[in-house]
Amino acid sequence: MSKNEVIGTCSCPLCQFPDQEIRVSTNGKPYMVCEECGMQLFSRQARSVKLLKERIGAKPVDPVAPKPATPIPVPKPAAPAAAKPAPVPVPEPKPAAEKTIFDIFN
Ligand SMILES: [Zn+2]
Repeated sequence: MSKNEVIGTCSCPLCQFPDQEIRVSTNGKPYMVCEECGMQLFSRQARSVKLLKERIGAKPVDPVAPKPATPIPVPKPAAPAAAKPAPVPVPEPKPAAEKTIFDIFN
């Protein structure tokens, strides 16, 4: 079995062993097999293919990747409201003392 084309290198995401070869499988998708720990990394979908190729610095395969057209404006914080003293609660007049059973007899 002939080896597939090497399109770049990348450190192993598992053991961090550097410069592992990223190869392109027969179906055109990049993959990596770590020489150090044997971890195998396969791209199965367009997004992982794109991200892996970006990571190794290869040219993007999909030039119509969605990009934010304009930076999202950051909303400015509202100006602080003028400091107003909190309204002082008006104390309610105390109700007349309730009569107790003892008041009746006084
Ligand atoms: Zn590894």
